[in-house]
This record gives sequence, structure tokens and C-alpha cells, in this order.
Amino acid sequence: MIVMKFGGTSVEDAAAMERVCEIVRCRLSSKPVVVVSAMAKVTDQLVAMGQAAGRSDSDSALAMSRAMRERHYNAASELLGTGLFTRFHAELESDFNALDELLRGIAAVGEITPRSTDAVLSFGERLSSKIVAAAFSAHGINSALVDARACIITDTTHTRALPLFDEINARLLAQVQPLIQQGIVPVMGGFIGATLTGTPTTIGRGGSDFSAAIVGGGLNAERIEIWTDVDGMMTTDPRLCPQARRIKEISFDEAAELAYFGAKVLHPATMLPAIQKNIPVHVLNSRNPKNEGTRITARAPHCRNAIKSIAVKKRITIVDLVATRMLMAHGFLRSVFEVFDRHRCPVDMVSTSEVSVSLTIDSNEAIPAIANDLQKLADVKYAGRKAIICLVGENVRETPGIAGQVFGSIADVNIRMISQGASEINISFVIDEDDVPRAVQLLHQKFFAEVDPAIFE
Ligand code: ASP
Ligand code: MG
Repeated sequence: MIVMKFGGTSVEDAAAMERVCEIVRCRLSSKPVVVVSAMAKVTDQLVAMGQAAGRSDSDSALAMSRAMRERHYNAASELLGTGLFTRFHAELESDFNALDELLRGIAAVGEITPRSTDAVLSFGERLSSKIVAAAFSAHGINSALVDARACIITDTTHTRALPLFDEINARLLAQVQPLIQQGIVPVMGGFIGATLTGTPTTIGRGGSDFSAAIVGGGLNAERIEIWTDVDGMMTTDPRLCPQARRIKEISFDEAAELAYFGAKVLHPATMLPAIQKNIPVHVLNSRNPKNEGTRITARAPHCRNAIKSIAVKKRITIVDLVATRMLMAHGFLRSVFEVFDRHRCPVDMVSTSEVSVSLTIDSNEAIPAIANDLQKLADVKYAGRKAIICLVGENVRETPGIAGQVFGSIADVNIRMISQGASEINISFVIDEDDVPRAVQLLHQKFFAEVDPAIFE
């Protein structure tokens, strides 16, 4: 069997769901289980509704819910046609009535908790999965709706609940496996689950990929397909460099480095259940299903190019600490990191010398307050509008002189900080945001003027 996960843009309206029907139809012989996100933007809108209700503004919350109701009814009636929709309508209606009742309840209390947030958010995937399952049936695909809340069992850490794998795997085998064996396509919502006592939970924003990996891992899938709206992973952002090429094959480790540095296609932490079972993950484009996309596997095949991809993370602030007296004294770095910790600000890159420490953080409003606290430990300077450039590839660790090639090709770009990760498969450095397009184009020209046809298209 395989898992096919469709993201929000792949189910954003009737036309998109129509494409999903055709894509799934072509895969029926592989015995798919389909996992869907909420329709695009719906989760954000549910968050906004919950917050409005939490401020006791039930008028705004209910107005937003009305608009969402319209959108779902429209998509469903377009997909199903008037006859089928008349019968299906009541199912959507009862969900939206339940949502409105929940919003009124939250507004009456005037407080939104993580637990009630999850209850509100759960409607996005409950609705999209219902519509997709109905659309499959209407298009002659034998399918069954599986309630994710009955299978994806989690702890009670609302809004970022942790899956209870043993429980989940048992339920997948009991509830989903038999459907597959009967030639039925199970359809379920990603992102949502429930506690052992049946209270709805969610597993973190963007969590549908994680759901797909959990299902694939639990059912020992042959592969997991992540259907999105791009042709897979690229050698760099094509908006920065039109010569960017598609990467056909990449390893989980490489994909992890890229995701961390802002390649938003897929978050590999969410692929852990697939990695552990050595299940390949394919990133594919639902608007261009003929394209082979990117295949992510535990071990990427040999590649003749020194690197696989150049990732960019913008809106970085670099913080320089100079402390002739205190630096490297016992406990100094700990006090520095405690400051960032107190402000809940993750640090990306760190580099130190005898008398200074430089770090990078995502630009954020707390920076003046952080600098103020750091001032007690050292002289502080900070500068925003920086970017991290990250070159990733398994070959980095075996290519002598690669740093020379990297920095030689951008000799006139001012480099503010350099780090070569312990994973040995990336070289990262910090430059001014304004230099990003030029640096990326020069690096791309240097490393991808010729590409290994087995790995890149
Ligand atoms: N709908 C959820 C979100 O927007 C989960 C997902 O799309 O992966 O975060
Ligand atoms: Mg998504």
C-alpha cells in the first residue's frame, strides 16, 4: 500500500479536488490511503474564529464561520452535482452547526484554551476529508471516510499533541488495513487526532505531513507521496535564480538541513516514522502530476555534483558580543544562552573567538529587550537584514577544498559569519540580505553549471 497526502492548496476548491480524484484513480493498483489537509487557509481562519470567540466577539466569529460554510458548500455542490449534494448537504450542515455552537460556547466563557482551540481546528480536516471521500464516491472510486480521531491517538498536549504510536498502529491495523484489503480507498484528515478519551487534539501546524508519515509507518507503506503545489525540491529558489533545477533524489539528512533553512516543501522532522522504517517519501505537484518530483530516501545515490542545493533564510539578525573580561570564563556561554532561553528565542548559528561570540536569530520584536539583558554580560551589537546561505550535500564531507570553492566564487561578497555543521553535510554563512540574489546566482553558476543527470533535471 501507499500513502497519498494532499496539502491545503491541493484541495483548495472543487477544481483542485477534481484533480485529486484523477491522481488517486491512476494509483488505485498501489492501494492508496489518502490523507488530506484542510482546504487552503481554513486552519488560519479557524484560529481567527476561535480568537474572536475568545474575546467574546461571537458576531465576528460566526460571520467568519458563515463564509467558511459557503465555501465548503460551494466546493461540495460543484463536485457532487445537485442530486448527490442534496443528500450530502446535511452532513456538512451538522458539522457547521456544531462549530457554531462551539464558538458560541467559547464566546460565552470569553476564553479560548488550547483544548478548545483544538476542538475548533479539528473542523478543517473533518470537513475536507468528508468532501474528498464523497467526491471519490461520486467519481466512481470505492472509498470510505476514516475519522482520524478514532485512529490517531495522542497525549493531551493540546495544539502540539504527541502521537501514541502503539495505540495508533493497533487502530490502523484494525480499522484501516481491512478497508485496503477490500479494495476500498480510506480517506482521512491529517493534523488532527484525539486523546484516549476522545477529546480532539492537533499535532502541530503543518502536521498533515506528520499524519501521513504516521499512517505510512504504521501500515508499512511502500512509499509516502506528499502532494503539494511545486515540482519537488529545487537546487535553489527559482525566484532568486531562474536556472534552478529540480532535484530528483535527495537523502533525508539533506532534506532535513534544507527544511531547517527555509525550504518549506517538507519538514523532515515530520517524516521520522517514515525514516525509521526506511520508507521513501516522494514530493509531487498536484497541478503537474506527470512531473516525477523529488524522491527522499535514507541513502541518496551517488551524485557527481559537490552539493545538492543552496537554501536561503532571510530576516536574520546577527548578535555580536564582545567581552574581554568575561568571555570564555566558566559559565559565560551558559548565561548568554539563558538570556535567549528566557525570551524563548531560538539561536541558529554560533561562532566564537577568544574575545567574542556571534550568533544569529530570526529577527523579532524582542531583540531590544534581549540586547538589554545581554548588555549585563558583554558589549552587545546587533544588526538585522541579514541572511543565512546554506549549501547542502552529502558530498560536502568528502570534497577537499570545497570551502575554498564556495568563498572563492563570491569573493567580493562580505561574509559576516561562517559555520560548517557537525553533520558535515552543510556549509552555512551569513551575508547582507541585499547581497542574496547576486551571491546565490554566483554560487549556482559555480556548482550547477553542469549537473549529474541521474540526480537533477
Ligand atoms: N491544516 C493544518 C495547517 O494548516 C495542517 C496542514 O495543513 O498540514 O496547519
Ligand atoms: Mg500544509
